[in-house]
Amino acid sequence: MVGHDERLAAENGDWESLTADEKLARLEGFLIGGKGCQCEECLWEYGSVLGQFGVAAIPLLISALHHECVGVRMEAAETLGRLGPVAHEAIPALRIALMDEDGPRSNENSVAGLAAWALQQIRRRGSAER
Ligand SMILES: [Zn+2]
Repeated sequence: MVGHDERLAAENGDWESLTADEKLARLEGFLIGGKGCQCEECLWEYGSVLGQFGVAAIPLLISALHHECVGVRMEAAETLGRLGPVAHEAIPALRIALMDEDGPRSNENSVAGLAAWALQQIRRRGSAER
């Protein structure tokens, strides 16, 4: 387990100097483009950072719902749910995620369970009609 934090820090030493768009582009490279370490631990880390970008991260979060790594899919679903109604464009992708092979909707710690929760959060206040 040596080196993940250090390697991530070395790869992203300029992180603080990047604009939000540049950060998102880099995360897209990690999550979708296959750049950087692709181990589960690092992928989960990349996914968890997306929550910092709010609405700007929604397209990438939607892509991440289809990621081959279960951890990334869970993180994406949960982050979309936390964004709530502003993430309404994710509804179709979250509906598909309800059938995720990771587990039944009844398990709240599965991709499908988190997708069901996220859909509830997004639809609170009738956002589906917007
Ligand atoms: Zn790694």
